[in-house]
Amino acid sequence: MGNYYFVYSMKNNIISKLKKPIYMGNRVYCPVCERKSRAFAPFGYIHRRYRARCIWCGSLERHRLVIQYIKRNVFPRSNKVDAKFLHIAPEDCLKSYFKNVFHGKYITSDIEMDGVDLKFDLMDIPFGDSHFDLIYCSHVLEHVNDDFKAMRELYRVLSKTGIAIILVPITAALKDTIEGKNVTDLALRTRLFGQPDHLRRYGLDFPERLKSVGFSVDAVKAQDFLTPAEVVRNGTLFAGRLSETIFICQRAE
Ligand SMILES: [Zn+2]
Repeated sequence: MGNYYFVYSMKNNIISKLKKPIYMGNRVYCPVCERKSRAFAPFGYIHRRYRARCIWCGSLERHRLVIQYIKRNVFPRSNKVDAKFLHIAPEDCLKSYFKNVFHGKYITSDIEMDGVDLKFDLMDIPFGDSHFDLIYCSHVLEHVNDDFKAMRELYRVLSKTGIAIILVPITAALKDTIEGKNVTDLALRTRLFGQPDHLRRYGLDFPERLKSVGFSVDAVKAQDFLTPAEVVRNGTLFAGRLSETIFICQRAE
């Protein structure tokens, strides 16, 4: 997913490494790599955020938010360490952590990315019904041609007691999602949907889309489980605001 993002991310990785000495310190803490630094580094494809990226592992605000949610709410609650875990479009920073924790039951996948366990289309997941105990799918659905079909597949392969953690970029000022699968002009896509490889811009109706395929949805924000001090220190502020919502999805039946 997202060649543009990948190239941009690589470039930032190199710049961060060169600038590492100026980030030495212990004012902020990354819960992904569990290392401290003076500050998070700038990052942003179109809108630059000045306190976003961990200089050590490359994690962004949403990665740090999700990892804290998983550590606090998923492992302790249901002993999911032995869970069958599907990580879609795996982020490098999280992959090494998950690989370590989930041992042999952790599977990474993507439609085009190299270095994953399986390459497949999210609209046609090659696993039987109710297979996975944990699915993590972050910033993927906005790239998929038919996101309802993909959501139905995620629902199908999730076990009855399983959890799917789903994130997408949401435009808070937008009530209803806008789509344009036929928009092929990359500049127009960027203007309409925020990135040249996005096929839609999600609005506040996103949880309703998840519910429409059968999921029960719990919308979790940083302030729901972190103290204000943790939010700042662990870098879950997004451009100075509280970062994104994590959608915790379970089979409603
Ligand atoms: Zn880190």
